Amino acid sequence: MKKISIIIPAYNEEEALPPLYDRIKKLMDTMEKYEFELLFVNDGSKDKTIEIIKQLRQEDNRICYVDLSRNFGKEIAMIAGLDYATGDCVIFMDADLQDPPELIPELVKYWEEGYDDVYAKRKSRKGETWLKKFTSKMYYKVLQSMTKVEIQRDTGDFRLLDRRCVNALKKLRESQRNTKSMFSWIGYKKKEVLYNREPRVAGSTKWNYIKLMDLAIDGITSFTTSPLRISTFIAIPTFIVLFIYFIYVIVKSFVVHEAIHAFQAIILLILFFSGIQILLFGIVGEYLGRIFKETKNRPLYLVNEYNGEKEKNED
Ligand code: UDP
Ligand code: MG
Repeated sequence: MKKISIIIPAYNEEEALPPLYDRIKKLMDTMEKYEFELLFVNDGSKDKTIEIIKQLRQEDNRICYVDLSRNFGKEIAMIAGLDYATGDCVIFMDADLQDPPELIPELVKYWEEGYDDVYAKRKSRKGETWLKKFTSKMYYKVLQSMTKVEIQRDTGDFRLLDRRCVNALKKLRESQRNTKSMFSWIGYKKKEVLYNREPRVAGSTKWNYIKLMDLAIDGITSFTTSPLRISTFIAIPTFIVLFIYFIYVIVKSFVVHEAIHAFQAIILLILFFSGIQILLFGIVGEYLGRIFKETKNRPLYLVNEYNGEKEKNED
């Protein structure tokens, strides 16, 4: 029997856990063909989350938990979940029921058809302002233009991953984790499933606009090092302006016989030295980008198949 691990990172979710368990239990009971593991990662909750998980485990031995020593944030909670999951595939789900468990049979169906990464994509962004939709669209456009890795839009962490994706993700041990970009980076056969994201059942979101901004910057810096090229891009026009102005001043003094003014000399000097400084920043940036990539210590490539045999990424 194939085993499915449902990984649920939880931070202060005492109110959401009982309804969550009820809905997942119903679902697990209908899918008799599979063995289940419901793996909670308690991310240093300050409320009764862990007590509730322990209590549930006494009633249902499919429930497992990893209790982190403090709050490490969702990204770290997720990799902890991957480290401890034992299933043939894993499904990431939020504890707040924003991701409907009823979608799981569909995710599993595509997995059985041979897809490695079945991700749930939000059907609509209803209830969001025009500005939010617009900024999000622009953000994805800019982000995609900066990287060769294909980015999945309007998807969160709600997805099913085959064991070989899990093993691949476990090889990415960088500490500044942006799991969304890692899902894209590992590649493999992906399939999208549309769904409606529901409002939270209880408690409150841990996000605010400042955190969202952090996330946006984090998204860019984890996908690409191209912002480091900004200096180089500014330096080039600076030198072009310098060159044109230089020609203009020279022509004026030698051809038209007009004396060079002090301010013209100053402008030339400023353009020259600021141009050199920006250029040097750009060079430093290039090397910094390379160091940044090296320090992540990622595998150089991942293999899909070798001589007709699927690569499992086991160590
Ligand atoms: N979460 C976590 N650690 C944190 C913050 C959040 O494990 O430091 C969990 C949280 O319990 C929930 C999921 O991550 O299961 C998503 O969090 P939330 O609902 O606050 O985010 P949103 O859905 O608003 O993006
Ligand atoms: Mg939520």
